[in-house]
Amino acid sequence: MRTVRPSPPKVRVTPSNSPSEGKWSKHKPDLKEDYHSHCAYCGSYDGYRHTYYEVDHFIPKKFFRENSNLSDVEYSNLVYSCKFCNGKKSNKWPTNSMDVPYIGNIGFIDPRDPDYESHIFRRLDGSIYWKTDLGKWIVQKGFKFDQRSRELSLLYSLNRMKFLISELLKIENDISSTSIELENQAKDLCVRLTKMYLIASNELKKYYDSI
Ligand SMILES: [Zn+2]
Repeated sequence: MRTVRPSPPKVRVTPSNSPSEGKWSKHKPDLKEDYHSHCAYCGSYDGYRHTYYEVDHFIPKKFFRENSNLSDVEYSNLVYSCKFCNGKKSNKWPTNSMDVPYIGNIGFIDPRDPDYESHIFRRLDGSIYWKTDLGKWIVQKGFKFDQRSRELSLLYSLNRMKFLISELLKIENDISSTSIELENQAKDLCVRLTKMYLIASNELKKYYDSI
């Protein structure tokens, strides 16, 4: 079964910077690296977005400011997120309890939790679906992945095609020394993939222009 993110985040314990309150965006370069340049929630690669990638507070600011002394620059509460996931998640914190991200089938799973991928998965077309009832809440209510399925499919396909094109380019030289026929097949595949890539990338641009 395909995972939502290409690889799990590797979150550092000690960030490079020690920003003062309110300056949480100073942590963005570390977060980008820890989350391998992908949104922590929907797994989209940040290279395709015409929108800005943001720093999300996993426990929302509004909630922890009213209920705790948690600093808004506390690295362990920060997440690298695309604008859309951050916007959909917003101030939601349905458990109303610090340090309790979900109760039963409602709430969020920390994207650093290895359990994150146990509740949701990526379908063949690249859209995101659920495995559990909590996953269903995350897909439909938490991030509204179901309303963004075309966008998520396009982003996923683009990433797959980009990977395949770069792999083909890498092996093309090796093939040429063994078989001209194979080399031509690789070239042909590369051209076809590049065309598909351009079509999908235009479609994504149109999608963003329409919202
Ligand atoms: Zn996202």
